[in-house]
Amino acid sequence: MSKSSQRPVRVRFAPSPTGFLHIGGVRAALFNWLYARQNQGKFLLRIEDTDLERSEDRFTQDILRSMQWLGLSWDEDLIFQSKRLDVYREQAEELIRRGFAYRCDCTEAEVEAMRETAMKEGKKPQYDRRCRELNKSAEGKKYVIRAKIPLEGHIEFNDLIRGAIRFENQDIDDFVLIRSNGAPTYNLSVVVDDVHGQMTHILRGDDHINNTPKQMHLYQFFDYAVPEFAHLPMILGSDKKKLSKRHGAVSANAYRAEGYLPEALLNFLARLGWSHGDQEIFSIQEMLQYFSFDHVQKSGAVFNTEKLLWLNGAHIRAASPERLLGIVLEDYSNHFSGEALLRAKTALGARLVQLIQPKVKLMKELAEQLVPLCSPGAVEVDASELKWNKNEGLKVATKAAVKTALGLLGKKMEEVSHFTRQGLEKSWGDAPSLGDAGLNTTEIDTLLRQVGEQHGVKLGDLAQPMRLTVTGRMVSAGLFDVMTLLPWDVLEARLQKIEQL
Ligand code: GLU
Repeated sequence: MSKSSQRPVRVRFAPSPTGFLHIGGVRAALFNWLYARQNQGKFLLRIEDTDLERSEDRFTQDILRSMQWLGLSWDEDLIFQSKRLDVYREQAEELIRRGFAYRCDCTEAEVEAMRETAMKEGKKPQYDRRCRELNKSAEGKKYVIRAKIPLEGHIEFNDLIRGAIRFENQDIDDFVLIRSNGAPTYNLSVVVDDVHGQMTHILRGDDHINNTPKQMHLYQFFDYAVPEFAHLPMILGSDKKKLSKRHGAVSANAYRAEGYLPEALLNFLARLGWSHGDQEIFSIQEMLQYFSFDHVQKSGAVFNTEKLLWLNGAHIRAASPERLLGIVLEDYSNHFSGEALLRAKTALGARLVQLIQPKVKLMKELAEQLVPLCSPGAVEVDASELKWNKNEGLKVATKAAVKTALGLLGKKMEEVSHFTRQGLEKSWGDAPSLGDAGLNTTEIDTLLRQVGEQHGVKLGDLAQPMRLTVTGRMVSAGLFDVMTLLPWDVLEARLQKIEQL
């Protein structure tokens, strides 16, 4: 058998559009993509839509959108198998001419009966090959085309993950290549396309391992150097069963909607079953640098949502605020009112994102925190959790302290001569803030601490209602940081609201 490993690397991801792109598929795509990019090879995307009944365009669109979102860029033209049905039929006829396939007009009931007989005799349930040497013609009865698998010998390959795997030829059925309705089977179309695309490596889920010997025979029939294979272990749910919808979100799209970053999902999927020392967090660049099939484990890998969330937090912290803002504006724009959206789109929007990003694990949370910050004027708040609700004295003292603080802060703004009233009427991003007036977080902290002392209110108690009215939330980005950034008129309006709580 000639080797394919000396040729330039060409790999493919070949999803069937019978459902949304799920994370098992994403992992197969990622490993192919990494392998291609590591080896200056080509990564092709092929839509396996020969099952016309179960394939849907919306699933194809989902696959393409998800691949783009993930940044798993493909080379050359996108391939649709549904456009190549004639080619598969021609290739099957060619195999008949060359003695590697034959027509079989046995009915389904007959084939079923053969399988039952085989089972009764303690053999594998197989077609009994009765049409194999009959040279049936294409005229007359309906027929299928079957592969003529050698009756003796074996076929063997060295899986890049699992090592040597051997199959006895007698256990391989003379499987169908073309169905009686003229449609190709998966095993035929996949090999015709892999030969056509000059694939050198087939990297896919280990649910296909039993198809591999059949496909290897076909490669040989087509005189094609058999590619290398790597069968990736299944992804398992926490109950150790194959991951499925029962375990919650499984489509790439659903993870996007929940607020995961593509690089976090890819990092997580790369680490499922693969390791590089004890490193957990990988940038795409590092995955490209370190990924290798030598360190992919054979057994199924358990999906751990907690870890994915943790990784997402880490990747959010590592990303640039501008990029995160872009994602928020693309994926969560419907969370914003028109004016808030305009405000978010400014440099100030990105600076606010920078304050929020260390505090969140999901992009959705980032959007949720950014929305109130960018909303014009005061924001609706839920004051039911405030500590002062249980202590009327604290409430009165806190309100008085806020008033004092507002006075002092307002003075600071006025002290800066060029911030005239006119300046305050400038639009959001350009309007002056406490930061512009020279105050940093430490100074705001000190000022509020002193005001608190005057009024007998601890800093934490004073900050609680301030955080709520300024950020709209009980838990938020650093309050004093936000206070240095928000335009003073917005901040003032929000702090004034405390009086009415
Ligand atoms: N369409 C097949 C699948 O989605 C492709 C398998 C392969 O990569 O050969 O499972």
